[in-house]
Amino acid sequence: MSQQPGQLTFVAPRRAKPARHLADLSMADRRAAVTELGEKAFRADQLSRHYFERLTTDVQAMTDLPAASRDKLSALLPPLLTSVREQTTDRGTTRKTLWRLFDGALVESVLMRYPDRVTMCVSSQAGCGMNCPFCATGQAGLTRNMSTAEIVEQVVAGARALAAGEVPGGPGRVNNVVFMGMGEPLANYKQVIQAVRRLVEPAPHGLGISARGVTVSTVGLVPAIGKLADEGLPVTLALSLHAPDDELRDTLVPINTRWKVAEVLDAAWAYAAKTKRRVSIEYALIKDINDQEWRADLLGKLVKNKLVHVNLIPLNPTPGSKWTASRPEDERAFVRRLELHGVPVTVRDTRGREIDGACGQLAAAE
Ligand code: SAH
Repeated sequence: MSQQPGQLTFVAPRRAKPARHLADLSMADRRAAVTELGEKAFRADQLSRHYFERLTTDVQAMTDLPAASRDKLSALLPPLLTSVREQTTDRGTTRKTLWRLFDGALVESVLMRYPDRVTMCVSSQAGCGMNCPFCATGQAGLTRNMSTAEIVEQVVAGARALAAGEVPGGPGRVNNVVFMGMGEPLANYKQVIQAVRRLVEPAPHGLGISARGVTVSTVGLVPAIGKLADEGLPVTLALSLHAPDDELRDTLVPINTRWKVAEVLDAAWAYAAKTKRRVSIEYALIKDINDQEWRADLLGKLVKNKLVHVNLIPLNPTPGSKWTASRPEDERAFVRRLELHGVPVTVRDTRGREIDGACGQLAAAE
């Protein structure tokens, strides 16, 4: 379903839900589910170890389980994601996967290996209802929310490929997870929070990824940012600001018509105060749209002396959009202006543009 300019979709269409999966459940719920299947509760721990530590879903390989139990327990490991296509670039160290979900919905995830770390960029919704005009995902509208396990499975798939040595650089593990794929994570709040819990809980409860390595990126759903601050999960918050003034932000990030720049920044500072985590301000530099020096100056004034980091992203091209990345000299001037205000700023080295796998390019078509 495509959207009219500026139209927002908060509530996902009601659709059949994916099958219940181990990764949807807390440890207590897993024990209960296993007991319901007629198995001893401790089998939940064994199954969790196989899934979250050994990254396997093949019950026949779980030789510490009696054969009869294996069949019953396989009900908790339904296949949720089917790989439709894999594209790589950067000599195989950037890898985008197109996944089909049980109902045919398509999503994408991207694995990026750097010399010192691996980052997985995951989707939280099939499509997106936030309708930012420069983002490919926003153009097709929202298909549905993803389940906790569908989100976690993207990371497990990446972890499995790394452990198996399929990614150049030798066997490795996932260090960071960024919710910067398709979807607005805070519009699928419950499932996203549970997925974060699965990611950060130590094995065998979860994948044991450091909460500091998890980034939740949002267009700025102010009440949800407040809730996130109270979860006791010290994840990094990234705020997609893209303009320091309401007039422009109303058009670039339509949610701004609900919650203004001042409100969303207040929510971000409150998040930083509560979690002691530096908030990341995302700002895609769009030629002659939001890259003027006066806007850099205004942005600098708004964020100076805060627990903040500004991440400038050269705009990635998307189909049907006439906008392009800023000229190099304008980008440099923008950076300099921010630095004059003492604001920590970096320009993101965006990966995966060649395979439409960079920020804002995920559109998931076959
Ligand atoms: N809905 C969330 C999660 C998506 S994250 C959010 O908006 O934060 C994707 C990031 O890439 C966001 O910061 C988004 O604004 C940015 N982005 C979207 N389209 C882009 C494009 N064409 N070029 C560069 N960055 C883009």
